[in-house]
Amino acid sequence: DQEAAKDVCIVVDGAAGVGKSNITHQFINGKCAGDDTLAIEYSYTKYGIFGDSQAKFEVLDRGDTNCGSDEKHCLKCSIRRGRTPVEGVMLVYSVTSRESFEYVAELRERYLEIKQASGEWWPFAIVGNKSDLEAEREVSREEGAALAKSFGYIFFEVSAKDNAKVEEVFRALAREITQYEDRM
Ligand code: GDP
Ligand code: MG
Repeated sequence: DQEAAKDVCIVVDGAAGVGKSNITHQFINGKCAGDDTLAIEYSYTKYGIFGDSQAKFEVLDRGDTNCGSDEKHCLKCSIRRGRTPVEGVMLVYSVTSRESFEYVAELRERYLEIKQASGEWWPFAIVGNKSDLEAEREVSREEGAALAKSFGYIFFEVSAKDNAKVEEVFRALAREITQYEDRM
């Protein structure tokens, strides 16, 4: 078997309260954490089968408080901190918060600045969480899909609470990461 174990590191980012920590918990532990989440940044590891090989997923759940210095510096540190530097980015909003949706474009700019400076390539996914809260929806599925399409990014609506499409979005991003690496 020629396929080596793959390491992928994905950062989960977005406005406070969109469900970054619950998405991470759902993927790592197979359950949602409700309000029992860390506000600080934390990195988790999960081993699993990916394609025909073993993979190690490192997931960086970004914190909601910054580290005291400026945001850009803070983000740069986050990206380099793990054993595997970040190689895929999940930009999360809540379908119940238009403000969090608008923040996605701002965050994207911040990542692109760092990415361009370093000359790296990362796939992005735009993720609309809390799809279970249909009655409180402020952002339509079409709007989310259109934004992602305009950038050429993966798009999923997920529910960390109901464990809907969470695994799928991590796998779709991991696939882009490994396909890119295979071409190098
Ligand atoms: P973070 O600040 O982005 O890490 O958000 P958290 O994961 O801590 O979640 C913030 C709040 O949203 C908590 O009260 C969660 O229970 C709730 N929440 C997170 N994901 C979902 C979801 O998919 N559906 C619903 N209904 N609530 C969610
Ligand atoms: Mg959190």
